[in-house]
Amino acid sequence: MDNNHQLEADFQLLKTLFNNYPHPIDMAVIEKGWQFAVEAHRGQKRLTGEPYVNHPLQTAIILARWKLDQDAIIAGLLHDVIEDAGIKRSEINRDFSKQVGRLVEGVTKISNIKLRGSVDQVFVENLRKMFLAMAKDIRVVLVKLADRTHNMRTLYALDKDRQKKIAKETLEIYAPLAERLGMGEVKTELEDLAFPYVYPGEYNWVKSASKNFYREAEKHIDLMKRGLLTKFRKEKIEVRIHARKKHFYSLWRKLEREEVDRDFDKIHDIVAMRILVDKTVDCYSALGIVHGMFKPVPHIGISDFIAQPKPNGYRSIHTKVFGPKGRIVEVQIRTYRMHEEAEWGVAAHWVYSEIKSKGVSDSLLEEGAGLKMNKFWWVRELIGWQKQFSDTKDYLAAVKIDILKHRNFIFSPNGDVYDLPAGATPIDFAYAVHTDLPNFIKGAKVNGKMVPLNYQLKSGDVVEIVKSKERKKPNRDWLNFAVTALAKREIKKSN
Ligand code: MN
Repeated sequence: MDNNHQLEADFQLLKTLFNNYPHPIDMAVIEKGWQFAVEAHRGQKRLTGEPYVNHPLQTAIILARWKLDQDAIIAGLLHDVIEDAGIKRSEINRDFSKQVGRLVEGVTKISNIKLRGSVDQVFVENLRKMFLAMAKDIRVVLVKLADRTHNMRTLYALDKDRQKKIAKETLEIYAPLAERLGMGEVKTELEDLAFPYVYPGEYNWVKSASKNFYREAEKHIDLMKRGLLTKFRKEKIEVRIHARKKHFYSLWRKLEREEVDRDFDKIHDIVAMRILVDKTVDCYSALGIVHGMFKPVPHIGISDFIAQPKPNGYRSIHTKVFGPKGRIVEVQIRTYRMHEEAEWGVAAHWVYSEIKSKGVSDSLLEEGAGLKMNKFWWVRELIGWQKQFSDTKDYLAAVKIDILKHRNFIFSPNGDVYDLPAGATPIDFAYAVHTDLPNFIKGAKVNGKMVPLNYQLKSGDVVEIVKSKERKKPNRDWLNFAVTALAKREIKKSN
């Protein structure tokens, strides 16, 4: 197929994904978004050689698989038009809606912050704050994750240096972010895509060393499965049983643990058995049946994440049993709904709340109702993530969620983050960067555009101070609009 036919076929695929959608989609608007993207990126190519517009199309397809709403799909199609095609937000507002414009701009801003390729404290701090500031709308982060997923799928086209840098950033930032958002499927894909670029030697070792172990484990599970299916049929419980292979990256991480020390025999879930049932109560019946046929392993036995979900919302029952030939096998039991949540996390929740807001109530909804669905629950997730990363006493950890939204995070062009009070101006920013910087101030750019020095900064703005060669005394008039104590003190001091 030539490029145009492939694009057309993929666009048709996108449209078919909207059959069985939980919320209505206006196909005319989707068509319009597609045409807009095609026009904007006309003539542009990716390093893979394909037309550029294939990238936003694949991003939108990923978002549609997560069942995101129409605005997010359009934002996926348009996510690079500001950055790479010189389109203005006002044009998106005009042709689509303010919401879509805001989403596209949000994604553009996230992409503009340089996440420098290091794991040093400053970098991680900046990143966390960036997400807190930027992602007032969870969909911005989801579009970014979809964008990154497609970029990782096509990473082979880049040069070695960039491959490694992007893959590293994916492992350090985006995969953990997906995990914190409960998107297990996304986290898994990102990790396995990044693994060979970041740790090529280790990847090759795990891949070849694990082969036989995977095969053996699958055989055992197959044996168990047959016996169990018969029993379930007798008990009239409908189940689906499949084998879940541990993916390479997490297998490697486990093998590297001190207590495992690269001993495959110590890994009981290289292939786990997964049992899917309809209702929560069936999970416990299934557990009884499994334990009736295979003895649970003492002490390392059962984890009931249904009664006590993991912080990211993960629900499932895990048990370890003695399988054929005394081999230890992990069995995971959950409902289809829990399964979907475990794979798609916040995206799945989002669908429920969307259904809810449309007034459709059904048993699916009921099952998800125990989960916190207010719009800040995921911010709590991010803060949990932050705690996990370092024990430094970050002030953010102490900040209450309800005041987070009133904070004003301002960015320098290379990704440093400054927490400035409401009403802060480029002058306050300049003093926050360095007390000497205002002596050279010639002007200020916000998000790439020149602004007056009394411009009031908004959270998420990227501020660049334009410097003059000559040193000048700070202007006393700045006192009329500077708001930080630091700026006021410094201006007074030099006047
Ligand atoms: Mn992109």
